[in-house]
Amino acid sequence: MSSRPEARPLGLFGGTFDPVHLGHLRLAEEGAESLGLAQVRWIPAGQPPHREAPRVTPAHRLEMVRLAIGDNPLFSLDDAEVAAREPSYTVRTLERLRTQEGAERPLVLLLGADAFAGLASWHRWQDILGLAHVAVAHRPGFTVAAANLPPALAPEFQARRCSPEALAASPAGCIATFAMTQLAISATQVRNLLLNGRSPRYLLPAQVIAYIEAHGLYRNT
Ligand code: ATP
Repeated sequence: MSSRPEARPLGLFGGTFDPVHLGHLRLAEEGAESLGLAQVRWIPAGQPPHREAPRVTPAHRLEMVRLAIGDNPLFSLDDAEVAAREPSYTVRTLERLRTQEGAERPLVLLLGADAFAGLASWHRWQDILGLAHVAVAHRPGFTVAAANLPPALAPEFQARRCSPEALAASPAGCIATFAMTQLAISATQVRNLLLNGRSPRYLLPAQVIAYIEAHGLYRNT
């Protein structure tokens, strides 16, 4: 019988969070509940290698996530990718966390459906599946089905598919999907509203909006 204090899966949620919004927060909250996660560790990317540079600095994005998650005991913040000052490769983060958490702890990488569809373009993506499970959240405008995935990813999705309950039974290697409240919010939309002087209220936490205003972020100049 195991005497480990905590063997429930640890959720890992990476992103540019440029800025963090309620779609991210509901994904993490609903993912934690429906997948039985002990905790969700938020990991803002420093310099994401597979997309254009974020609009604001890693330090601002990290601080906005800190403000957004601060009152939720299920959530914690991992600043290692921001601190690294080099491209943020998920596989390296997972290697670090696997060493920290031990070989047996189930790790669950949380991804929105759009991010999952692009997984096969990530650095050493097949190693990612050896280091963690993947749990994919439905997102408006993106369907999670083998028929809609790129040819490299579709067979992996079919072969590794499992129920959310199965994630606790092994350390890595399964792909589960989960439903969440469908929120058609994106950071792109929030940035565009701010750029055009329009209100982003109710799309992201009030503390984050206050931070954006205090620091004059996402303005045209
Ligand atoms: P951008 O519009 O700048 O591309 P984004 O809103 O997609 O940003 P990211 O920081 O790129 O936000 O996303 C981090 C993770 O959160 C990704 O896995 C993404 O799929 C997921 N995600 C973001 N917004 C939503 C949403 N509204 N519903 C479900 N998943 C989401």
